Amino acid sequence: MVDESLVPTVCPYCALGCGFYIKLGKDKTGIEYMLDHPTNEGALCPKGNATLEILSHPDRLRFPLKKTEGGWVRISWEEALAKVAEEIKKTIRNHGPNALGFLGSAKCTNEENYLFQKMARILGSKNVDSCARRCHSPTIPALNRAFGSACMTNPISDLANSDCIFAIGSNFAENHPIVARWVLRAKDRGAFVIVADPRLTPTAWLSDLHLQIKLGTDVALLNGMMNVIVGEGLENRKFIDKRTVGFEELAERLKGYTPEKVSEITGVSPSSIVEAARTYAKSASSAILYSMGITQHSHGTNNVSACADLALICGQLGRSGAGLYPLRGQNNVQGACDMGVLADFYPGSRSVNDVEAIHFIEEAWGAGPLPVGMGMTAETMPVAAGDGDLRFLYVMGEDVINSDSSSSRGRRELENLDFMVVQDIFMTDTAEMADLVLPAAAWAEKEGSFTSSERRVQWIDRAVPPPGEARSDLWAILELANRLGLDFDYSGPEEVLAEIGRIVPSYAGISRERAEARGGVIWPCPFLDHPGTPILHQEEFSAPEGRARIVPVDYLPPAEESSLDYPLLLTTGRVVLHYNAGSMTRRSFSLMKRAPELFVEVNPDDADRWSIVDGDLVEVNTRRSRAWARAHVTTRQETGVLFMPFHFPETNRLTSDVIDPEARIPEFKVAACRIGKMKGV
Ligand code: SF4
Repeated sequence: MVDESLVPTVCPYCALGCGFYIKLGKDKTGIEYMLDHPTNEGALCPKGNATLEILSHPDRLRFPLKKTEGGWVRISWEEALAKVAEEIKKTIRNHGPNALGFLGSAKCTNEENYLFQKMARILGSKNVDSCARRCHSPTIPALNRAFGSACMTNPISDLANSDCIFAIGSNFAENHPIVARWVLRAKDRGAFVIVADPRLTPTAWLSDLHLQIKLGTDVALLNGMMNVIVGEGLENRKFIDKRTVGFEELAERLKGYTPEKVSEITGVSPSSIVEAARTYAKSASSAILYSMGITQHSHGTNNVSACADLALICGQLGRSGAGLYPLRGQNNVQGACDMGVLADFYPGSRSVNDVEAIHFIEEAWGAGPLPVGMGMTAETMPVAAGDGDLRFLYVMGEDVINSDSSSSRGRRELENLDFMVVQDIFMTDTAEMADLVLPAAAWAEKEGSFTSSERRVQWIDRAVPPPGEARSDLWAILELANRLGLDFDYSGPEEVLAEIGRIVPSYAGISRERAEARGGVIWPCPFLDHPGTPILHQEEFSAPEGRARIVPVDYLPPAEESSLDYPLLLTTGRVVLHYNAGSMTRRSFSLMKRAPELFVEVNPDDADRWSIVDGDLVEVNTRRSRAWARAHVTTRQETGVLFMPFHFPETNRLTSDVIDPEARIPEFKVAACRIGKMKGV
């Protein structure tokens, strides 16, 4: 007789929070589809289907490890935690608390991230950040300014109710494949799909209108569309007058963005700009989807503001089918932001400069004074390490080296740290640089809550035990905090979630039991009987006086342009079979079988010019470094543009470290480069 049970869980990869069951049998563990999950209705993309492969991978870290001159040596948890506590105390004693840095993880639970930043801030360090900095940090200031809250406005499934779907800088068919199911359902109902992307991606293929814009010209395109809308009187006057401020200034600013002028900047024909503008504005309900093609720019915050402006002037918000969808990257990136694992925000999106809000948290925690003001970010911590201002770094669940732009520089800088501890499930390149490595439990080996991109908070139970002596991140944080005298007395993650509810108003009504129900709860959920809030901004915005702010922005070119030495432009992105820096998917047998190596896509004209044929090994150079990749000759992008996925370590050695001045995200999407066939190959 087979001893089987089904443990509900959520996918650990992208931020859609797809649900499935882990099926426990006597001899093997498998996946059972969760047909009644509200986001994915049983479907999983290739990554979701391959999730279990990493749990039993032979590379899993099983014991705490200490680096010695003779290599890695296994040590006890007691020795490891005592050493980390000693190094933290020594750093504070010798250099002050701001010489400590803490990088949390969008792969860890809400409870783990909450306690991680709480520990850091009670110790007195401002330097708390996460990989959210590298994917959607521009969304936070731009949407907070516009709407008063910085998140997806409608559920993914509500896309099926849209009449027009406008995706800009999002290849969702590969990167968030379950979104494509809902978009196709809308198309079946007759919806019109517009995709603005420099590449002819699978997402562009399913569109009715592809706007193949030049890299980094998004603001020009969005302003051009708004120029048409205002010029033809297609704006939603009633919505603008009743629910927004700032329209007149925008209307004035848009005058310079005629379709003809915008066409020169973007490469999109004036007639296509007009068609896109009219369709978006006139449709009964239109949705905008955007992702890192919008945010990972030196003007990423402006890009997001322009998306918000377009939605606001057309009144395409606050209704079913009408919304703004920032599609997040990792499975708990929304939760990590909500928990305050950001250098600019305490939990609940409270600004680090809001002294009154910080007093509230001091009272709730019974601790203080807590640090006030902006801390170092995921990007500036390595720089500070190089300058000697950051001495200690605690990395939880991220391969920061391979996620960083211009990563060779970051590697050199982090070597200057006095001490680095990395807590992870695999020996990543970042862990290899650490002085001490703590073995972490993977998502299915622990319990806690995750918040998906659509604000859906879902609880998962432990399905299988972690390997060896690996422990949950929560356990490690509690043990360490208590060795530091912080008196973190929690019986388990449900008690941490209860405290989160007292600190973060949107989570006040979310208990473990509610988050355990099928599909969890969508925040804001301000009290226990509250049903959750799938659609935001229905009556009013969270911004002052309930009115949204229209923020005019101008087009500015990308930081790097092509030159004689670097005549091409490199852009980066994701592919369907890999995820993030690849620390998990590059250890997944079935995914690696289908996508085994780094490639660079080259237009046939460029391939001819540099005598490259499909399958050649080529060298790509930028002003920072060089990388080798397999050439894929394809018409997916126009002449002059190369594309490389960032799931292999070499790609981010090449990317630009110019940052958006407000959100401090690097311009991963545009770097001047050159290409050449590798000699002797
Ligand atoms: Fe996992 Fe995202 Fe794929 Fe869903 S779409 S199965 S959450 S990777």
